[in-house]
Amino acid sequence: MDCLFCKIIKKEIPSEIVYEDKKVLAFKDIHPKAPVHLLIVPKKHIPSVDHLELRDKGLMGELILTAKKIARKLKLKGYRLQINVGRDGGQIIDHLHLHLLSGKLNNH
Ligand code: AMP
Ligand code: ZN
Repeated sequence: MDCLFCKIIKKEIPSEIVYEDKKVLAFKDIHPKAPVHLLIVPKKHIPSVDHLELRDKGLMGELILTAKKIARKLKLKGYRLQINVGRDGGQIIDHLHLHLLSGKLNNH
């Protein structure tokens, strides 16, 4: 499948991985918009929140709990979680991902 994040998951494309388990991968965003900017993705290819099915609800919970786990590990004092959905929602990569951002956002 021609999906950038699937290729990152399969390690066909390098990334700076910060967390990995059976279902979830987290890596550094290549164009960070804040001092900490990570992407947390399910290993299963789901294009967006708009494509979620009821059976994915546990997986979505795991993405958020992974964000919490990483934030604890990095001792973040606070963070924001962002999910872009569809082109009008700012989504560029069609593989569901949670942005974990901490610190002052860069102005573009
Ligand atoms: P979105 O706009 O929500 O689809 O976010 C996609 C994010 O993926 C952007 O913040 C990009 O900077 C990031 N990105 C694109 N290519 C890569 C890559 N090869 N490795 C890490 N992050 C990437
Ligand atoms: Zn994918």
